[in-house]
Amino acid sequence: MSRQLKSREKLFDRFSKQLHLLKNEGLIDIDLKYEETYICPLCLNQFQRSDLISEKSKNFLTEEDAPPAKLNGSRIALTCFQCNSKAGHQIDHHLIHKIREIDDSKFHKGTTQKIRMEFEDTYVNSEITSKGNGLLNVLHKIENNNPTTLDRFIYKLKNKSVGDLLDFSPKRKKIDNSKVDKALLKTNYIITFAKFGYIFLLDEYYNTIRDEIKQPDLPTDGHLMINNQFEPNQIGTYYVLNENVKSIFNIFSLKTDYSETLIGALLPFPNMEPKELHNNLTSNGTSIEQGKIGVELDTTTYDTDADLFGDLIEIKKIISWKNAPQHRI
Ligand SMILES: [Zn+2]
Repeated sequence: MSRQLKSREKLFDRFSKQLHLLKNEGLIDIDLKYEETYICPLCLNQFQRSDLISEKSKNFLTEEDAPPAKLNGSRIALTCFQCNSKAGHQIDHHLIHKIREIDDSKFHKGTTQKIRMEFEDTYVNSEITSKGNGLLNVLHKIENNNPTTLDRFIYKLKNKSVGDLLDFSPKRKKIDNSKVDKALLKTNYIITFAKFGYIFLLDEYYNTIRDEIKQPDLPTDGHLMINNQFEPNQIGTYYVLNENVKSIFNIFSLKTDYSETLIGALLPFPNMEPKELHNNLTSNGTSIEQGKIGVELDTTTYDTDADLFGDLIEIKKIISWKNAPQHRI
């Protein structure tokens, strides 16, 4: 058996066991199709064990990285192939390029990026490598340029007649900021799923969020993301206990070879509309400005020792917190 299949099976077992436990205890109201069922957290379609094998199923189960693998995320859940490839291709790469663009703008030592140098009424394509201490090496490849333009550029460069200051701009990938937001929303949702499984996420309340993730062109509903306010030792899942802003709060890291961006993201609980949560956070003299949150959140760290996939007492604690409007855990 391949290593990947083994790790998919491990995830399947964990989530499937919890799903059937919740069903058997009457804690969720949903008909399960199979003896061992896995529900894709994005489309809510049901899958069975044989769907772990791509040859046996048209829409098989794949490992889902949250955050995206290229930002040092890990495989913490399964989503079906359809959901995974859609979200991966249409959302995640906008987030990856956004973070890389921030990295590029800092010219970290040893990095190479493609740039465009303005020259006369045209431009020269170049590669720029940062040597550290502000030193940049610039390479103009013949195959990437119009040879006549390049000759003229080199000639003028040697004769110091292009001026002291070279104008250049990095070749930018097309980044759609609403898709960056969606990739963050997906990461936040999948991290929550990995921690809590099916305890409350099957609620139809989350259909809006799922639709936003599955349909990349739908507008987002202003979900709450906060950056640059956290330290790496705060990474984790928290319960927000404040009156009227009950929610799950995840702090996660987007890491490259050169930088680490820490994002805090709120996921509302089913008895409150995201807009209401937003209003409650911004009322009482508090405000959200420039991605910063004004309210002092009363949080409790998710107890990593609590077994929310097998321990009924712990599971019921979450459910009663969910059901009691604005009561403390
Ligand atoms: Zn799916």
